[in-house]
Amino acid sequence: MTSSSPRTRPFAREIRVSDGSKREIDQHVEKVLRGLGNPPPPLDLREVRELLRLDMGYYSSGDDSALREKLSKLRVAGKQVLARPGLLVDAVRKHNLRALYLPDRKRILLDEDMPKKKHRWSEAHEVGHSLLDWHHETMLGDTESTLTPLCRAHIEAEANFAAGRLLFLGARFDDEIVAHPPTIASVQALAATYGNSITSTLWRMVEQYPEPVQLVGLVSDHPRYSASNTVVGESPVRHTFFSRTFLRSVGPVANEILWAHVQSYSSYVKRGPLGQAEVFLASKSGELVPFVFETFYNGYDALTLGVNSLRKSG
Ligand SMILES: [Zn+2]
Repeated sequence: MTSSSPRTRPFAREIRVSDGSKREIDQHVEKVLRGLGNPPPPLDLREVRELLRLDMGYYSSGDDSALREKLSKLRVAGKQVLARPGLLVDAVRKHNLRALYLPDRKRILLDEDMPKKKHRWSEAHEVGHSLLDWHHETMLGDTESTLTPLCRAHIEAEANFAAGRLLFLGARFDDEIVAHPPTIASVQALAATYGNSITSTLWRMVEQYPEPVQLVGLVSDHPRYSASNTVVGESPVRHTFFSRTFLRSVGPVANEILWAHVQSYSSYVKRGPLGQAEVFLASKSGELVPFVFETFYNGYDALTLGVNSLRKSG
């Protein structure tokens, strides 16, 4: 399932997928890509669904009766889909679901009211659930009420990781980013190549960039026009990403520290580059490590990339 971005807890910590789970998810994704003949980007998700024999349909989150009708149609196709179809409608309401996966029908449902630019990611996320069979019993139904929020968050983080690996063609992206300097311009170029959002491209670049470069990424409100500047309790930061070397040397940095840095140099420009600056972050051993931060606003999200200054001296 895909929910709209949660903004309830200010500066909440991001749930991270363990290395072991990442390896396992990678194996599933690589198998799919092999099945497609390791195609060049951008990945065509219709081909993925065909290979995996997944169906896709739509529902409207603004219309309960249309959703119920969808369910009754699913029932015509064969045996009863859900013991209690009302649970699905309730789940959509309770979790503000934008997409979901019905394992027993191998069917993905997307909310047609969701902005079009989010469909690709949501579809890939649900494909991720379909690939990871330990997710299936947690998707919906009676276990819904017994799943803890933390457990759900882990499942969702795993589906997001699978979506990212799928949409960026697994190891192909790892090989390709080496040829790109870690900059917002590279993020934009790679986003165009892979047909993915610059937000997801920033995330994949930060997590996959090879050593010894240390990267940190931030997806947030516009630093100068954030509603959270006035609304108490709303987090302006939606996601933070760290490269493995960053985590080893600096460790996870609190969102409020990163946010304060981004606010310190960002301009009031309403679209495009907002500026860059040298920022110092304290390493685990207590020394201050210089990073170059740059921030870009695309009209929806402010994207920040921080790179440790092993300065690109060449
Ligand atoms: Zn999900």
